[in-house]
Amino acid sequence: MKIFDCHIHCSERSDDVLRSFAARKGFRYDLTELLSMMNDNNVEGGLLLSPPLRNGGIVPNSGTIKLCQKSGGKLFPVLTVEPYKPSVDAVVDLARKYEEYAKAFKILLGYYPIYPNDEIFSQLYDFAETQNIPVMFHTGDTATSNGSLEHSHPRNIDPLANSRPNLKIVLCHFGNPWLLDAAELLYKHPNVYADISGLFSTGAKYSQKYIKFLSKTLSEAIYFIGTADKVLFGSDYPVENIAEAIEFAESLELEKSDIDNILGTNAARLFSR
Ligand SMILES: [Zn+2]
Repeated sequence: MKIFDCHIHCSERSDDVLRSFAARKGFRYDLTELLSMMNDNNVEGGLLLSPPLRNGGIVPNSGTIKLCQKSGGKLFPVLTVEPYKPSVDAVVDLARKYEEYAKAFKILLGYYPIYPNDEIFSQLYDFAETQNIPVMFHTGDTATSNGSLEHSHPRNIDPLANSRPNLKIVLCHFGNPWLLDAAELLYKHPNVYADISGLFSTGAKYSQKYIKFLSKTLSEAIYFIGTADKVLFGSDYPVENIAEAIEFAESLELEKSDIDNILGTNAARLFSR
């Protein structure tokens, strides 16, 4: 079975916010470690997303593309968009330049005081619709304590999905902790998907109990949707260890064929144009 990790972070920057997550897990957090972890776990490929920086910005997309080019065909870039006209323009230009290579766009909700249906993103959505490029949205809990949950709540996607039924939308992190709210979005909108990346970290007092709770709750959210065909596997490395992320996906109380779809088939379908 082919496993595809649709949510991975990596950078060579010392001011990358995710370095503290990596340190807690004992990870070196570099391309070599990532590729060997993918290899050890039979992960055939993955999407690389720009990590947030301590100053509130993001690692430039050029850095993410560079790492993908060094990955021997294993990693594909997701182009992250900041809510400013120059960023939207630059990202659309990059998507034109890298055509099939760039697999998706990413918008970070909760890190800026902006909603997904803001006018600033219109040009990007027009382009994404015509080129059939999915747009991934950070939803739910934020990696920094000063994030805005008001803006990262998955329900904010509804007006956008209503007005753009042809736009392929991915709710990153399944809107955690609003798993059922996210499930309603997938149930209601044929073009809304969700990844199950970065839902847990290990090592805290109740981690094991929490992971059990999460596995049960996520399974129930999928029962609510009625299908697992729009649920995508992701580790959110370095937030999660890839082996633990796969083990978690396999723990879902679903039919084996659905787990296989989550681990690889669904992503292959969504991200191939
Ligand atoms: Zn992430």
